[in-house]
Amino acid sequence: MPNTFDVIVLGGGPAGYVAAIRSAQLGMSTALIEKEKLGGVCVNIGCIPTKALLHSAYIARLLREAKDFGVDAGTVKTDYGVAMQRSRRVSDQNSKGVEFLMKKNKCHRSGSRSTRPP
Ligand SMILES: Cc1cc2nc3c(=O)[nH]c(=O)nc-3n(C[C@H](O)[C@H](O)[C@H](O)COP(=O)(O)OP(=O)(O)OC[C@H]3O[C@@H](n4cnc5c(N)ncnc54)[C@H](O)[C@@H]3O)c2cc1C
Repeated sequence: MPNTFDVIVLGGGPAGYVAAIRSAQLGMSTALIEKEKLGGVCVNIGCIPTKALLHSAYIARLLREAKDFGVDAGTVKTDYGVAMQRSRRVSDQNSKGVEFLMKKNKCHRSGSRSTRPP
């Protein structure tokens, strides 16, 4: 990894990774510093995993109310552990997607924590 860059982005959340990818697409040598997983709060603990859990709740509710629509889905059991595992899987896939985009656009990535202003 080179030690000088035109642009260094701190944080690999939605703001940071989009900025880094665009900067590289515009021809600047770009590095992104992210201390945790790529994708930030949104991909790893915010928007994406919560929407995956909400989708499980939506399906459970649909099945419970199905009788009103003339569909008998029998007894509906829910398993929060399975829903949670799926939610984690979806987040991990998204984070790997961001990693792929970083590589595709030739952004260098440092996995360490930045302790001083870039
Ligand atoms: C439960 C929940 C649900 C949400 N749902 C939605 C939604 O449905 N729609 C929506 O638009 N928004 C939603 N949000 C908000 C969304 O997650 C944030 O707006 C978004 O993540 C902000 O992106 P960001 O890149 O600015 O910051 P972040 O996502 O916080 O990314 C910052 C990154 O910087 C890294 N970092 C910080 N300091 C350092 C350091 N010193 N060195 C190295 N790395 C560092 C962090 O590890 C982190 O990955 C939700 C948030 C939560 C908590």
